[in-house]
Amino acid sequence: MNYFNLHTHSHFCDGKEAPEEYVKRAITLGFHTLGFSSHAPVPFENKFAIREDRLEEYFQTIRDLKIKYHDRISILLSLEIDFIPGITKDFAGFVKTGNLDYTIGGVHLIRKKGIEDLWFIDGPLQERYDEGIEKLFNGHGRKGVEAYYNQVLEMVGTQKPDIIAHFDKIKMHNKNRYFSEEEGWYKDLVWKTLKFIADESDCIIEVNTRGLYKKRSDTFFPSPAILEQIHHLKIPVTLSSDAHQPQELNGYYEEALKLMKEIGFKELVYFDKKGRITQDIK
Ligand SMILES: [Zn+2]
Ligand SMILES: [Zn+2]
Repeated sequence: MNYFNLHTHSHFCDGKEAPEEYVKRAITLGFHTLGFSSHAPVPFENKFAIREDRLEEYFQTIRDLKIKYHDRISILLSLEIDFIPGITKDFAGFVKTGNLDYTIGGVHLIRKKGIEDLWFIDGPLQERYDEGIEKLFNGHGRKGVEAYYNQVLEMVGTQKPDIIAHFDKIKMHNKNRYFSEEEGWYKDLVWKTLKFIADESDCIIEVNTRGLYKKRSDTFFPSPAILEQIHHLKIPVTLSSDAHQPQELNGYYEEALKLMKEIGFKELVYFDKKGRITQDIK
């Protein structure tokens, strides 16, 4: 499969194996490019992000792999950087220290103004999602969702990530309980967010397959209805599996490519050492 994956997690953060195992698997799959995107350090206790004191070791490990495998696959260095207003560091600082090839910006923790408690919307546990929305938003789905998309908007406006991670991650643990993706206000909010991305940024949106192969979501991130709007607005897209182990590197790629073709997408964006390039969808 002559494709690529720009969104992967190794044992430096919450992934399962050493980076080199992903490289070997990617070569076996026929990928031409593999990007590493460990969760960037965050300034509080957590189980998912790379530790600040291992960041330099991570950078060096990926740089060494770039050299070792340069004639077989293009390896890129990145971070999936959390954006929590007033809490996380600016993306530009990480780009500078790591000399990153690109950045992925993601919202996994939602902050409500004036309250230090964070709502963790990701991870395997639905109970944690429920606890957060109850505690911060009194179980009010719409208020929680608005806070999520506003945080995404602020991330796009202030941090300018190259790639926006799992655009509608907020739906994952919802399971049609706190809100419906069919409601008018939800569609309007998504449209407003996409319009801003299209008009005011150069961001790429990823089609992220993780929800499907982990069986945590019935649709890709973003869902087909949102992908149609992204296509309409001509926002560039990339494809990734958000792999946390080597076997997940091409998870649901065939299905995602099929859907993208049906919607009308013609090309995917990825990076080489000099910057963005596009590849036709076959
Ligand atoms: Zn993520
Ligand atoms: Zn990720």
